[in-house]
Amino acid sequence: MIEDVTQPLDVSRLGDARVDFNGSLALSWFPRLQAELAEAGGSVQAALCFARELQGRRTLSGTLSTELVLTCQRCLQPLRFPLQTRFHLALVDAGEDAGPLPDQLEAVVVDAERVDVLALLEDELLLCLPIAPRHRSEERCVAPTRHEGSSFSETEVDEKHNPFAVLRDLHVKQSPEKR
Ligand SMILES: [Zn+2]
Repeated sequence: MIEDVTQPLDVSRLGDARVDFNGSLALSWFPRLQAELAEAGGSVQAALCFARELQGRRTLSGTLSTELVLTCQRCLQPLRFPLQTRFHLALVDAGEDAGPLPDQLEAVVVDAERVDVLALLEDELLLCLPIAPRHRSEERCVAPTRHEGSSFSETEVDEKHNPFAVLRDLHVKQSPEKR
């Protein structure tokens, strides 16, 4: 059982005991995600499972679902963004060779026995955010009128740049399986 999910958790002990967690996580517990939101309230429904696989690997798998309010990059009005993600992480000690992992398993380096699980979940949520969120309905979504000669234009929105792409690089790069 998890007493307080907001505290760093002993993932080895939880994995050995195969602990599940089902509950609601306040969006206010995710400060980096908060910075991207137009409205701060709400929560994330989480179903987590800590386990230890046959190879001794500690894993954290589960699903997260929520509805976020982002800012539309065309009309600058709030945009509701339902988010649901499923993940399966291998928790690897810093310096440890994770070895080849099955395709569906993603390695995440943890640097202590007690792990800030909320930060791991926050990474998963950030990776789901659209690069440049926009309403789908064109009628309700119109770019604000700009004065003649305004230097600002929509093309200045850099859609290719995802500020959270760096999170992918933080995950351990797996060497190709040698055969
Ligand atoms: Zn819009």
